[in-house]
Amino acid sequence: MDSTTATAELGWTIYPALGWEEVSGYDENMNTIRTYQVCNVFDNNQNNWVRTKYISRRGAQRIHVEMKFSVRDCSSIPSVPGSCKETFNLYYYETDSDTANKVSPAWMENPWIKVDTIAADESFSQVDLGVRVMKINTEVRSFGPVSRQGFYLAFQDYGGCMSLIAVRIFYRKCPRVVLNGAVFPETLSGAESTSLVAARGVCVPNGEEVDVPIKLYCNGDGEWMVPIGRCMCKAGHEVVENGTVCRACGSGFFKSSQGDHLCLQCPINSRTTNEGATNCVCRNGYYRSDSDPPQIPCTTIPSAPQNVISIVNETSLRLEWSAPRDGGGRKDVVYNIICKSCGGGRGGCTRCGDNVQFIPRQLGLTETSVHISDLLAHTQYTFEIQAVNGVSDQSPYSPHYSSVNITTNQAAPSAVSIMHQVSRTPDSITLSWSQPDQPNGLILDYELQYYDKSMAEWNSSVVRSQTNTAVIRGLKPGAIYVFQVRARTVAGFGRFSGKMYFQTMTEEEYKSSFQEKLPLIIGSAAAGVVFIIAVVVLVIVCNRRSSERTESEYTDKVQHYTSGHMSPGMKIYIDPFTYEDPNEAVREFAKEIDTSCVKIEQVIGAGEFGEVCSGNLRLPGKREILVAIKTLKAGYTERQRRDFLSEASIMGQFDHPNIIHLEGVVTKSAPVMIITEFMENGSLDSFLRQNDGQFTVIQLVGMLRGIAAGMKYLNDMNYVHRDLAARNILVNSNLVCKVSDFGLSRFLEEDTSDPTYTSALGGKIPIRWTAPEAIQYRKFTSSSDGWSYGIVMWEVMSYGERPYWDMSNQDVINAIEQDYRLPPPMDCPSALHQLMLDCWQKDRNNRPKFSQIVNNLDKMIRNPNSLKAMTPLSSSVHLPLLDRSTPDFSSFSTVDEWLDAIRMGQYKENFANEEFTSFDVVSQMTTEDILRVGVMLAGHQKKILNSVQSMRAQMNQITSVEV
Ligand code: AMP
Repeated sequence: MDSTTATAELGWTIYPALGWEEVSGYDENMNTIRTYQVCNVFDNNQNNWVRTKYISRRGAQRIHVEMKFSVRDCSSIPSVPGSCKETFNLYYYETDSDTANKVSPAWMENPWIKVDTIAADESFSQVDLGVRVMKINTEVRSFGPVSRQGFYLAFQDYGGCMSLIAVRIFYRKCPRVVLNGAVFPETLSGAESTSLVAARGVCVPNGEEVDVPIKLYCNGDGEWMVPIGRCMCKAGHEVVENGTVCRACGSGFFKSSQGDHLCLQCPINSRTTNEGATNCVCRNGYYRSDSDPPQIPCTTIPSAPQNVISIVNETSLRLEWSAPRDGGGRKDVVYNIICKSCGGGRGGCTRCGDNVQFIPRQLGLTETSVHISDLLAHTQYTFEIQAVNGVSDQSPYSPHYSSVNITTNQAAPSAVSIMHQVSRTPDSITLSWSQPDQPNGLILDYELQYYDKSMAEWNSSVVRSQTNTAVIRGLKPGAIYVFQVRARTVAGFGRFSGKMYFQTMTEEEYKSSFQEKLPLIIGSAAAGVVFIIAVVVLVIVCNRRSSERTESEYTDKVQHYTSGHMSPGMKIYIDPFTYEDPNEAVREFAKEIDTSCVKIEQVIGAGEFGEVCSGNLRLPGKREILVAIKTLKAGYTERQRRDFLSEASIMGQFDHPNIIHLEGVVTKSAPVMIITEFMENGSLDSFLRQNDGQFTVIQLVGMLRGIAAGMKYLNDMNYVHRDLAARNILVNSNLVCKVSDFGLSRFLEEDTSDPTYTSALGGKIPIRWTAPEAIQYRKFTSSSDGWSYGIVMWEVMSYGERPYWDMSNQDVINAIEQDYRLPPPMDCPSALHQLMLDCWQKDRNNRPKFSQIVNNLDKMIRNPNSLKAMTPLSSSVHLPLLDRSTPDFSSFSTVDEWLDAIRMGQYKENFANEEFTSFDVVSQMTTEDILRVGVMLAGHQKKILNSVQSMRAQMNQITSVEV
């Protein structure tokens, strides 16, 4: 409120009537103003009040009053009494409504609240040029807190001469302000002059508070102070207009984080897609690795390494190269080496096995050279040196690489790793040893070097052996000898094995062992002939006894199992589970071996029931032989023991060169063991994978012939295997394949974690190997074994590839149902694929019998020319499954992409130069065209030709669908 702005009378309430008086006057600038005057200095006991009108509080908590007034100096008034005053009092009275009248509130302190006694700084005692000059005082007072709706002010004079010229009543507030990125609303000052009123700020649009809530304080003077916290523009927005606006980054600019910094221009090879971008997206073909900050340029994959040099040293190789021409804009280029062995009789290339060594490593090489060892001798390899960088895994394309073809030289065989003592006497020791892991060629012979441990090494003697056993004679009794052996091929001697120590018998040992056998030959010592007769008789008697016993019980059972077509004298298989006590079957079909005859050497595998070990078996009076020992792990249940031993009861009934031979069982002591002949090369599937491409077709057919012969025998015995697969065929050092794995438990147990076997009603089934009728209604017959045999053929010809690759079991079942069949493996003679297809006839009666298969394979072996013809791509009767080595061309948009996918990307330029740039032209390519574009490697020509043929076949399919 400001009294000077009043145009009419102020109309304030006066008490008593002859006290204050409203008068019009002039201010310093001679503007008309309304004033109140009083000057009753000559009367005693003055108590004059003037009260303003009701003033609304308007939310203020503290009220300020500015008063302009003049006071007459008492001393300037002649003969003024002593009661003359030069001050007046200021009061206020709070109320929620305008209810005051002439008598209320009472004209006295309390109810009125006194603010202060106001004194003048200057009085107007001077007189200038006869005119009394008005001296105006200005005083400001404030009071609070006030809380009612409004108030009145009152001015009390108690005997002065004064004029109240102007009264201005106000409160203080801090104005709306934008500070530190936030908007603060108008805020009224607090109740006390020292109060600070906190105000929360609100960030400007697209701004964000940093850490603490943003605040300002409004002080009693209406000034903002003590700013706390701040707002910053969020990502994608920059601060402009003095920090009062957060503006979206324009096109081509980005801001990746909150902050006061400005938007940045997109780095090279990137762009924005909208305003307010928080990052710039990479242009096609360019990428950012997870650790790349957004302000650095997008990068791409490196070009191929350059200037590859290969230095072959026997079966080792050093590769050196220089960095790619274009690192893709990055400095983190590393190299991967892909090793493929080529040739091996099959033309194509396959990935090298794990045994090849790379120093310092195969993948992620930071240096531009690598040392590769443990390659096979006389073998062609292709090495691809891929350049990869931090964005290679984001690119849909395979890395660029340079490749180099090398052929390893002949190399000496690797060292023999283990030697066994087969037998000994006082003057001889018989040793055997394993073939070197890497013979690197045909082993011509072995050289065994030995010396008496008590003598110097230079005294050593040497014997040669063409087999991996040797009898060393002329030794001293009871002496320890040190032996080392090495193999020789056309490439020379390999390294010697480590030193191994064996001791001859002492004479005493020999005599006592001799005496143990004595009772057997007592009475025959005088006459050698008698002795021989006696032994022969003994053997016959023993044999008869055991076979008599066997026959009597056996023939009982035979009654139930003989089927009409059995030829007389032919034994048939008896299911051990038809015995009331399966232990009886074990006793009947498996020989009990005393555990002291068995020496376990090392663990070679894991069986269903426990470890599989290799070791030695030395039966009394027999030569020590290498054996495989399957053990039953401790803590077995009676059922597990029975299931474990059932395999021996089955195996023990068979006697065929292509069926794994049971030596016997240990059941009377722990651990329970099944002992079989030892198969040096382990299971066929892994053996083939390890020797990918290493065999001739005839060798492979020879293996298949062995398996078929074993299966024919089982079939003749009326035994259905149900799990014929390469993993269940064992291979010995002469590449003889024998059918094994006669365990039944796999089919019986409800729970097995092996995904090869899928649960079916009533047992587990290895889907990929099993005939459809066996999957559907468990019709397991020798014909369903025939189907599995076809799959084994496919496994063998593809060197251990997984049948149907990574298709799911259900997809396999569906594909077979729709007459799809596996395509011929690479380089598979058509006669063999035809035989596979015959095995996969839907009608099981149309599948060949094992005897026919054996005959068929025998014919092929006799006439190798029949194995020359390869299957043309689309000639098979059944629909072949698409060959996984030739991807579907329609998923690529350019010939370059297609070449990358078949890993022939290095010929992109060659194709382009000869204008093979569309699928139409490429699909018509002939062998001559492929030569013309400059593909010189036979393997690559074959790969491209295969893929072109497959493209053509796919095109034909597409066209016929469209028609
Ligand atoms: P199995 O329980 O029969 O599947 O045997 C497990 C693994 O032990 C097989 O995959 C072979 O690697 C190995 N093995 C089993 N029997 C023999 C054997 N007679 N000779 C050599 N290795 C064997």
